[in-house]
Amino acid sequence: MTNPYRYSDTNKRYCTFDYYTRHRFGGKCAKAPLDIGCTCPNKDGRCGVGGCIYCLDGSRSAVGETIREQYLSAVTVAERKWKNLGGMIPYFQSGTNTYGDMTDIRRAWDEAASMEKAVMIGIGTRADCLGEEVLEALAALSEKIPVMVELGLQTIHDSTAKTIRRGYDRAVFLDGYTRLKTMADRLNGPSPKGYGRLSVGIHIINGLPGENRDRMLETAAAVAKMEPDLVKIHLLHILKGTDMAGLYESGSYVPLEREEYCEIVCRQLELLPEDTIIGRITGDGMADVLLAPQWSRRKTEVANTIDKMQAGEDTWQGKIRSKK
Ligand code: SF4
Repeated sequence: MTNPYRYSDTNKRYCTFDYYTRHRFGGKCAKAPLDIGCTCPNKDGRCGVGGCIYCLDGSRSAVGETIREQYLSAVTVAERKWKNLGGMIPYFQSGTNTYGDMTDIRRAWDEAASMEKAVMIGIGTRADCLGEEVLEALAALSEKIPVMVELGLQTIHDSTAKTIRRGYDRAVFLDGYTRLKTMADRLNGPSPKGYGRLSVGIHIINGLPGENRDRMLETAAAVAKMEPDLVKIHLLHILKGTDMAGLYESGSYVPLEREEYCEIVCRQLELLPEDTIIGRITGDGMADVLLAPQWSRRKTEVANTIDKMQAGEDTWQGKIRSKK
């Protein structure tokens, strides 16, 4: 069967990050996860102290290493893995990377932007940490190198946001997102999604406690309307030592089965615009502390199941939306 989806040159029926980086930067690009010691308003008392109920924040292992050391380790791994490396994406991943002393944070961003092979900077943060000073800093950084800002929405539903202790409601997310996206649209002009100076991504999580299939599809539909450049679809991972682990072990939370998850992802992809970059279609939990779902360890099988479901149903990213 031929693949009718146009943002693909493989069997994939969604716009993979690999496709995007090969087309934008001329080769496969690898991310270099960076930890600059940023905390999070959910942990330091501004919104809460316990963090989101699934957060372990176990990626703190890099603290103590300089940005350059963290970056070069990632480059070594990427070069060993891929011969045709198109570039590196320093990715400020741990904690909330627009929260703290902006002079220090800007210095870290600038240092990463100046690294050899860096083609784009990724910044993970929250929609309630996008004040005017932050927006100005992002605009200035995007003059030097393309920037992708990724915001964790997780769900559009306020009741779930309370359950997971996200620390802000839908209105706060929409306010932060809209101000960032409006500025990005102004800086980017008519560039296609993800090809401008400043791109905006949204993360969602499937399998949150209290959410059924309909609610997960509602989140995808709401995100589709926001027209982000990138969407990351995660699976909720239950990690040892988190409050979610307690819910799971007491039997009050049951994780999604693999087929169930893959079917939901297929439906979500149909709802998203066909040119949205899909940065991820499953979670990336820490294997040594993963309690459940154990099937998620086999990421290739999850991706293959989604590919097969899409091909079997002859569906693709944006199929439903494009009919509207
Ligand atoms: S917002 Fe992110 S870093 Fe902060 S507690 Fe939640 S998952 Fe952890």
